[in-house]
Amino acid sequence: MTQRDEGHNYRDSKNKAQAYERKQKIEDIIEDIRELRDADFHVCKHSEWQAKGEPETDEDITCTCGEFDSVIDKLEELKV
Ligand SMILES: [Zn+2]
Repeated sequence: MTQRDEGHNYRDSKNKAQAYERKQKIEDIIEDIRELRDADFHVCKHSEWQAKGEPETDEDITCTCGEFDSVIDKLEELKV
């Protein structure tokens, strides 16, 4: 193997390591968002309504979990 090849391989594995690290960081953020979604302060009106046995209501029972999930989706795209 020539010196040039070694240099190339070194850069290649360094790039792979950086890509892996970046992927891990994105994975961490996704996990953080999931925790926020499931945290007590986020009261999803739809889940509450379901928990009450899905009664007839005029109240807004829009599921707000999707707001969190759409951010997760954007991050998933960055992982590739
Ligand atoms: Zn929800």
